[in-house]
Amino acid sequence: MVARLAPSAPLGWRHDRGHAEARRRRPILGAPMSSAVVIVGAGQAGFQVAASLRANGHDGPIRLIGAEPHPPYQRPPLSKGLLLGKMTPDRLLFRQPAFYSAQAIDLDLGRTVAAIDRTRRQVVDTTGRVS
Ligand SMILES: Cc1cc2nc3c(=O)[nH]c(=O)nc-3n(C[C@H](O)[C@H](O)[C@H](O)COP(=O)(O)OP(=O)(O)OC[C@H]3O[C@@H](n4cnc5c(N)ncnc54)[C@H](O)[C@@H]3O)c2cc1C
Repeated sequence: MVARLAPSAPLGWRHDRGHAEARRRRPILGAPMSSAVVIVGAGQAGFQVAASLRANGHDGPIRLIGAEPHPPYQRPPLSKGLLLGKMTPDRLLFRQPAFYSAQAIDLDLGRTVAAIDRTRRQVVDTTGRVS
């Protein structure tokens, strides 16, 4: 990245870019950046884990499993906006559905995980389906 910069690029920017690039590829929690990740719970935390993994260079499969049928949405505006009729449900979403396909995040909604098998590195949902 640094080699592609124009000679006139400010030094600070050049340094920051190099540092950010190095940080971007650093393994998270010691796992390879290409390993498959399954996230249980498509709330704010689950959404942020998935989005941050991609933003930091994780290029392996990411599956975000959520019991609710909706893409990840903000809870606070439920009581402060939606129920007061000040906003529409689509504005609660952290990201529109297109974001997940663009980021290759497999949104697996309406599915409740019943067990996590850490030895086999699998999760099992209430219907017995394994991921
Ligand atoms: C009406 C309301 C107003 C709020 N206002 C504020 C506020 O003003 N300020 C503030 O700081 N916080 C507020 N909060 C709290 C804030 O929204 C939560 O702290 C935040 O949503 C927590 O996010 P989370 O992802 O950790 O958990 P959650 O939002 O609870 O999301 C967890 C998700 O995981 C899913 N899940 C759980 N178990 C499973 C399973 N086994 N398999 C599959 N899916 C599963 C759940 O269905 C859920 O969708 C408010 C919450 C509500 C409900």
